[in-house]
Amino acid sequence: MQINPSLLNKFIDLLIPLRCVKCGSILENKEGLCASCWPLIPFLTKPYCACCGLPFEFEIEEGALCGACSYELPLYKTSRSVFSYTSESKDLILKFKHTDSIHSAPVFATWMARSLPEIENPLCIPVPLHWTRLFMRTYNQAALLTREISKLKGWTYTPSLLIRKHRTPSQGHLSKKDRIKNVSRAFHVPQSKSPQLGGRTILLVDDVFTTGATLNACSKVLLKAGAREVHALTLGRVVKAQQI
Ligand SMILES: [Zn+2]
Ligand SMILES: [Zn+2]
Repeated sequence: MQINPSLLNKFIDLLIPLRCVKCGSILENKEGLCASCWPLIPFLTKPYCACCGLPFEFEIEEGALCGACSYELPLYKTSRSVFSYTSESKDLILKFKHTDSIHSAPVFATWMARSLPEIENPLCIPVPLHWTRLFMRTYNQAALLTREISKLKGWTYTPSLLIRKHRTPSQGHLSKKDRIKNVSRAFHVPQSKSPQLGGRTILLVDDVFTTGATLNACSKVLLKAGAREVHALTLGRVVKAQQI
């Protein structure tokens, strides 16, 4: 017997109702947020820096760079994020990182896919966790997002191309300079994997863009191993008032 996939999906929706990723209320829509929570999430839209995605407060010509990118261009070609990391939006990421709310991954991946620039058939790589941290946390939230995005877009998911060889201390309390120092030697492409990267476009995925130091360090080793260009994509982005 042939089962109609859309009927099957409707049946599954009845059994497991979709819930708001912020407050948990049962949803009427498939957007992932209820009508009360939707306005609380500061989704990032143009205008923003053509490279790092930092939002600008005023209209500015297409292709303009922020001060930091004008001073020193990051190694990734673009970085895009879904929403600004604020007191209202951060619980989406913290819940996803520290409790088993992995059911939010498909909704987050849909939002992230909408934030993507035009890129063709990239290899999809998550920012890796060190295995000791993975052991404690049981899953890498960046890998879950990457896998969902690759499924949505029909792209190749290649998590083993980039590994974290050093366990870096938690980055939260460090200055930008110290973060760069902290992460600059943490990542590595296994030599046997370099041929797979040759000439390829890479989509590098993480949960949060804080200063861009981690994404830059990953981009550096991916480009050195032969990748053509790296595009970064995160769910949240820290936007400090003085950066704008
Ligand atoms: Zn809600
Ligand atoms: Zn920028």
